[in-house]
Order: sequence, then C-alpha cells, then structure tokens
Amino acid sequence: MTKKKTGRKTTKRDVFEDPQKLKGRILSLMRADFKKSPMYSEAKARSFEGKAVYKCPNCGTRIYTGASDKNYEKMLLEDPKLKRGKESKMLNLDHIESIVPYNRSTKEMTLDELAPRVYCNENNMQYICRECHSEKTSIEATLRKEARAKKKKDKK
Ligand SMILES: [Zn+2]
Repeated sequence: MTKKKTGRKTTKRDVFEDPQKLKGRILSLMRADFKKSPMYSEAKARSFEGKAVYKCPNCGTRIYTGASDKNYEKMLLEDPKLKRGKESKMLNLDHIESIVPYNRSTKEMTLDELAPRVYCNENNMQYICRECHSEKTSIEATLRKEARAKKKKDKK
C-alpha cells in the first residue's frame, strides 16, 4: 500500500511525543514569532541608516542591502568600505543577554522562563553584522562550555 500524499510536510511524531523536542519546537516558533514584534522592528530600525543601508552598532561596518548596482557604486565612492549583500545573509538580530543563560540549558528551563527572554525589550536587542554575530556566538559557546565544566566539577 502506498502512503497517501497530502502535499503538506508533516513533522515526525517523536517531536510531539518527546517533551524536550516539543519545547525546542515551541522555542523556535517563539523566535520566529518575535520577528513580528515591535521590539524586533525597533532594534532593527536603530541600525538602519536609510537608502537600504544598515550600520552594525558593534563594529561600525556599513552594509548596502539594495538591488541597485548604480546606487551601490555611487555610495562606494563616499564609503569605500561599504559592503553589499542580502539583508538576511548579512545581518542578524541578536539577544544581547542570550535567551538561555550561559550557566543553564534549554533542557532545565521551562517555557514560562524562556518566553519572556525571547520576547524581550528592544534594549536587549541589537541588529548586528554577520561577522560580529558569529564572533559573539563563538564566545558564548566557550562560556557555556566553561560553565558546564564548572558544574561537573562542583558536583564531584
Ligand atoms: Zn559588526
């Protein structure tokens, strides 16, 4: 017997049956939903200079996200360091204080604890360039690793 296809992608059942996986799914839904919030737009607007240009508040890099070659070339004359690329690829919205604190894990946190950390005030948000974001992410990963190691040590 062949399976009937409804044309809609179905998420595997284990995601709904495993509470940790379900929490992960809800957390990613919250993250996506947060993009529709005024807090998100305000943080983004702070980095926007106008004319499709964003400026990273962290390193000062300016990025042209528009489609016009002509405009970009013109702007390059004024700022030879001006970068160019798709906004979604070049910029990231970052929670300054991360959603999950360094010394904790998603696993041990409840959705009630996580929700206000996702839907945070715009002052805790920054719209930064990809380079700054990946640098921050790797520093955070190190801090998490250290916190985990410390916890393990303290247990002994
Ligand atoms: Zn930057």
